[in-house]
Amino acid sequence: MGVPSMDLQETASLRVLQEYFGYTEFRPGQEEVISAIMEGRDVLAVMPTGAGKSLCYQIPSLLMEGSLSLVISPLISLMKDQVNALTVSGISAAFLNSSLSSADYAATLRRALEGEYKILYVAPERLPRGDFLLLANSRSIALVVVDEAHCLSQWGHDFRPGYLGIAEFIASLEKRPVTAAFTATATALVREDIQNLLHLREPFTICTGFDRKNLYFEVRRPKNKQNALLNYLDKRKNLSGIVYCSTRKNVEEVWALLRQNDFAVTRYHAGLEDRERHENQDDFLFDRKTIMVATNAFGMGIDKSNVSFVIHYNMPKNIESYYQEAGRAGRDGEVADCILFYSPQDVQINRFLITKGRENDEVERDEALIEHNLELLKHMTFYATGTECLRSRLLHYFGEAAPHYCGNCSVCNTLYTEEDITEEAQKIVSCVYRIKQRGRSFGKAMIVNILRGSKAEKIISAGLDTLSTWGIMADVDGHRIRSILDYLCDEAYLKTETGEYPVVVLTPRSEEIVFEKKKITMMLAPEIPQAEKKYKPSKDAAFTGQPKAFADVPESNVPAVATTDDETLFEKLRELRARLAREAGLPAYIIFSDASLRDMCRKKPRNRVHFMEVAGVGTVKMEKYGEVFTDLIRNTLDR
Ligand code: ADP
Ligand code: MG
Repeated sequence: MGVPSMDLQETASLRVLQEYFGYTEFRPGQEEVISAIMEGRDVLAVMPTGAGKSLCYQIPSLLMEGSLSLVISPLISLMKDQVNALTVSGISAAFLNSSLSSADYAATLRRALEGEYKILYVAPERLPRGDFLLLANSRSIALVVVDEAHCLSQWGHDFRPGYLGIAEFIASLEKRPVTAAFTATATALVREDIQNLLHLREPFTICTGFDRKNLYFEVRRPKNKQNALLNYLDKRKNLSGIVYCSTRKNVEEVWALLRQNDFAVTRYHAGLEDRERHENQDDFLFDRKTIMVATNAFGMGIDKSNVSFVIHYNMPKNIESYYQEAGRAGRDGEVADCILFYSPQDVQINRFLITKGRENDEVERDEALIEHNLELLKHMTFYATGTECLRSRLLHYFGEAAPHYCGNCSVCNTLYTEEDITEEAQKIVSCVYRIKQRGRSFGKAMIVNILRGSKAEKIISAGLDTLSTWGIMADVDGHRIRSILDYLCDEAYLKTETGEYPVVVLTPRSEEIVFEKKKITMMLAPEIPQAEKKYKPSKDAAFTGQPKAFADVPESNVPAVATTDDETLFEKLRELRARLAREAGLPAYIIFSDASLRDMCRKKPRNRVHFMEVAGVGTVKMEKYGEVFTDLIRNTLDR
């Protein structure tokens, strides 16, 4: 393929992005994945929640003429949501799963055979069925997408046996389609599993990073969790959020507590009747209830975009689950909170669930899996109890480099203060110089030990106690030295080199410290206990949108409000959206996301041409909604 056709194809995908989805730019990774699929390459894409994975396969599906794309997806609610969103944007799509009556199932299958859809969502369990195989072999299927691909791996957190049949299904097709796997959370182990179990062929692999900059992370250790929760929620009435609990019993308790205190709350766990679960889920999705209290049974595939906070009332059993659940906040890119209420008891309960919880099951006891899960729990506990930047802990866990200070988590915001570390940096870098003069190099722990003047056997026997820098930081806490050493490596004043084991070495910038005596500061964390207030409901319970109402909550991201006028307009737009959603029987965020409404408040489009400039407005949405929204904007502003 020559350069000009590549250009053409890029222009084509940009056109689809604008026309159907109403966005002007691709987000990181999207363009690369789309190009790879269009070139016929398999793809393994690891992109965080909210990064926009759906567009990565929806755009190629629209560009590949005359063929059908299959999207294998684990959850019914997820498929329904995606199909709704596509339909509203003028794209022909459908789903096949157990929620359809047999008549609807047959009708959808028939329409698919007739070539009516560009994209068909399907549950993995459907793939081996005869009627489905018939369809699959009679339509040209150019692309098979495996969404939430971590469900393939039993080392992941949502293993789904049905996913194991996907490779066989693909192999049974006459012509092998491009296969593209997507997931938000996958450690190296899980990624490997995905690639192997799907038989991906030299896939184009992309990992755009796990960071979600708009999310604020916090760990609290409340003496009284109920109190802390009520205090938090009191300042956020009208904002939508999820409270995760570890057991059904906890869900019931927290749900009752919030009801007593007049919150618009609903609940979800596996012990409820199917019908009630569905109703409750819809109450939350349709904004009839703003707070969802749930076990981890709730949420996979919940793409509600305006979730402003996710609180973990109990600590989950591993970081994958935590990040996946917390990641349901702020999908629309707006600021959102992810708060973990930690108590040491949570660790005990999780331990119990991992080691004993399965004994009554019919499943055979798998010692290796138990060990593995205990190890994962240990990492989760480190996250909850450590004193380092929370974001850096999460990112490091997923194998991603991250600075030690993010400025948007509770550790960074409440604990860190800027300190002058010039002298300490000089001592540390000098120590690495001295070690190098002896033709040696060591790992970080050893360097800390030398600086602290350790008399450990391996130090004495190597004669390191005769270094001039041995013991020059004997009076400094080891953790502090380690933090500074890490920082110096992050900032390239030193670096680690990996050979047999990682060792610290000099860089060109080391000179700035030892010879040029550059002044250096860094954010460092002394331990400060957090205060806790007793809950008293505020007099004006409703969220008024006035900054005053939450002036005393600096600890997290209460959304900033521009002006009262904009806020009035925003409320009106929300009302209009709610009415349209009710009429169409759709969740409000399918019509427009909060981000789109905020963009309307910024741009104040008064006619349909300007309305096209709003993020998330494509041709079809402009046709459908342009007039009512611009009418409302004009009327509100001209009053
Ligand atoms: P993921 O599956 O990666 O969690 P989604 O595909 O559900 O994320 O997309 C999350 C949100 O981001 C959606 O509201 C989507 O419309 C929006 N989005 C996707 N791509 C873009 C883009 N290029 N510009 C602006 N918004 C986008
Ligand atoms: Mg998705």
